[in-house]
Amino acid sequence: MARRCTVCTHTEREAIEAALLAGEPLRDIAGQRGVSKSALQRHQMEHIPAALAKAQEAQEAAHAIDLVKQLREVDATALSILAEARQGHDPDLALRAMDRIHKQLELQAKLLGQLDERPQVNILVSPEWIAIRTTLLTALAPYTEARVAVARALLQLEAGDGRGG
Ligand SMILES: [Zn+2]
Repeated sequence: MARRCTVCTHTEREAIEAALLAGEPLRDIAGQRGVSKSALQRHQMEHIPAALAKAQEAQEAAHAIDLVKQLREVDATALSILAEARQGHDPDLALRAMDRIHKQLELQAKLLGQLDERPQVNILVSPEWIAIRTTLLTALAPYTEARVAVARALLQLEAGDGRGG
């Protein structure tokens, strides 16, 4: 039963919302904008919170993207310092740059872990892994002992996947 909200579809929606948020009497807004008081009430109770939540989400996403951008810039700087240090044979500076990059990577991994909520891909069922596994065992075919050892190790690895860790 989706009834069209006369405020949502109003050409002066923004002005109406500004007035609502400013606490102007519904009667006044209704009179000025040609909408009913009940429509204003419903819009205020149901549609403004949703719109605000959406705006906040968008802001948070923008903030996250901004963070990633900043991190990339720091990365680029650290990498160019490292390159310069290596060219100039300055091991101290190179080490410091590498340390910086290392910390960056850690921070990024953490941030991305927080941002990325997609389910983790299980590498052991990926076509790439199956291809690698097959290639390995095929290549080891002439070396029975090695092949058995590798196959056993792989089975152990695969069986262990998902059990704690
Ligand atoms: Zn509405």
